[in-house]
Amino acid sequence: MNVLVRPASYDWRHLKTEFDGLMNRLGGREAIREGMRVIIKPNLLSAAKPHHAVLTHPLIVRAAVEYVLGQGARPEVRDSQAIGSFERILRENGLDKALEGLPVTVREFRDSVPVDAGPPFGKIELSREVLTADMVINLPKLKTHSQMAMTLGVKNLFGCVVGYRKAEWHLRAGVDRDLFARLLVQIACTVRPAFTIMDGILAMEGEGPGRSGTPRALGILMAATDPFALDEAVCRFVGFPPEKLPTCRAARELGLPGEEVAIDGELPEVQGFRIPGTDPLFFGSAPVNSLMRRHLLQRPVCDPESCTLCGICRDMCPAKAITVEETGLRFDYDACIRCYCCIEVCPCGALRTTEPLLGRILRPVVKRFV
Ligand code: SF4
Ligand code: SF4
Repeated sequence: MNVLVRPASYDWRHLKTEFDGLMNRLGGREAIREGMRVIIKPNLLSAAKPHHAVLTHPLIVRAAVEYVLGQGARPEVRDSQAIGSFERILRENGLDKALEGLPVTVREFRDSVPVDAGPPFGKIELSREVLTADMVINLPKLKTHSQMAMTLGVKNLFGCVVGYRKAEWHLRAGVDRDLFARLLVQIACTVRPAFTIMDGILAMEGEGPGRSGTPRALGILMAATDPFALDEAVCRFVGFPPEKLPTCRAARELGLPGEEVAIDGELPEVQGFRIPGTDPLFFGSAPVNSLMRRHLLQRPVCDPESCTLCGICRDMCPAKAITVEETGLRFDYDACIRCYCCIEVCPCGALRTTEPLLGRILRPVVKRFV
């Protein structure tokens, strides 16, 4: 299973040439036929500028749209935002301008249909637009993620769960990182994107996936027909063992990717890429669990200087663990499932994770026993 790696920048002519070359190499010319309805699925989760490295860069989306149009097919750019208006996300990210004048539908996912995602989940609701499309092209951003270590090709497809249902799944699977990873893998298997092209030109490290993360220029595009192979290759690239990435671990348990991953191209050396830890979220019996979670586990905290008390994080929190008070935010850390959706959606970058002092001291010991 080949994963293609090419140096790239956001210079339009260079980017377009590289993007077209990757698609041709993966078989795009043969696979995309006239009249097909092709869903292009970037990361458009919340309003952010391209230099924040939160969303797929608008020029990569444009390159995909132009490629599909060039094949005589009908592109639709779609995603399901976490919060706020889809139009504002397009404006802030510059996607509205990047796609100006092109005959393309740009809209959020709206309708859901139940589909069997296999055990233990059974029926889950995914976007009707995705399930009825002729093809899906997946355009993830290479980013870190405080709950899942990194969000790559597989996790980007969680956006095919429409609107508030994402929060429901966070709540149902949130205290069990491996269960959530299994859900993400099964969603990716159900959506089955034909191509995954990853924006690793300006990536994100540290406290991702929202504005608290740190943009990091890696200058690379990675592409594959199989998102599981691509995610394995990204782990290699940034020096993170794939078995530590919950989605890769869950995929491997299902025998994915089915073949050995081979890199086509040059993987540049990346030193010290900062990835959040993925220690256990659950510790045995209820009283022990409550105590351990309170004193050991990393948790979201707010910087009062940056917080405008807008309440977006409170509205987004699937566990209803945030209260906005006159003096600042209050977190219920017993209820908090550490999904870090709040960090992802905060428009001010006011939230980050921190580990309690006791946790910092005891973590190496606890890790040996849980
Ligand atoms: S932390 Fe961010 S999202 Fe939450 S209230 Fe403050 S500014 Fe708004
Ligand atoms: S407080 Fe933040 S991390 Fe905790 S459950 Fe709510 S959204 Fe998730």
